[in-house]
Amino acid sequence: MRRAYIAGNWKMNCTIAEAVSLAEQLVARLPGDANADVAVIPPFLAIAAVRKALAGSPIAIGAQDVYFEKNGAFTGEISTAMLKDAGLSFALVGHSERRHVIGETDAIVRRKLDALLADELDVILCIGEKLEEREAGQTEAVLERQITAGIMGLTAAQLTRVTIAYEPVWAIGTGKTATTEQAQSAHRFTRNLVAGMFSREAAEQLRIQYGGSVKADNAKDLLAQPDVDGALVGGAALKADSFLGIIAGA
Ligand code: PEP
Repeated sequence: MRRAYIAGNWKMNCTIAEAVSLAEQLVARLPGDANADVAVIPPFLAIAAVRKALAGSPIAIGAQDVYFEKNGAFTGEISTAMLKDAGLSFALVGHSERRHVIGETDAIVRRKLDALLADELDVILCIGEKLEEREAGQTEAVLERQITAGIMGLTAAQLTRVTIAYEPVWAIGTGKTATTEQAQSAHRFTRNLVAGMFSREAAEQLRIQYGGSVKADNAKDLLAQPDVDGALVGGAALKADSFLGIIAGA
């Protein structure tokens, strides 16, 4: 049985004071018997303060991105060693905003994933099709390309450090959510592909989050799908009430 995994991606939002206040509310109000692993992903500059606010709580903290080189002349970038030094346990790679706004390719996403795993950090690998790809019937081809580029050739042990987040690009921040059938179908496809690449056992252990306008009022139905193992949440993670409502749906 896979334990649900709910992560809140705060994106480029929150002052440090706002981030600390949100973290403090989550610590105070997260039920002790929550049915999910919970993580927050603040902007880099708020991480130290949020980490302090989360001390002693079960809420994990991750990074929104990382660079694949170890150190050196890469102005503006952050290395895996820096993430570890700051006390983080994981990072996102391949978020749709990085793929489609910043222009990251599958190859760059893979280099980032490899760098994280080499430094024993966990990874949430984001995948998902654009609206025109879905409308052209290319959803599964896009997912297959992104998953193959993202994890093909990892060892089974490395795969245990990876969570996949299926986030249809057309549903992120738009208020449009995939139907439960669309989400389940993409998640099932993903799991079967991973079974073919690794083993059925490895695929059954893999957690696959859904992301794209998840809210307290749609989380329960999405999370009830057999292959939906959690949620990657953007907008609704910026308020304690809505994020806790999503966690309650697990
Ligand atoms: C996200 O940031 O990954 C996301 C899914 O955003 P939202 O929940 O706002 O659609």
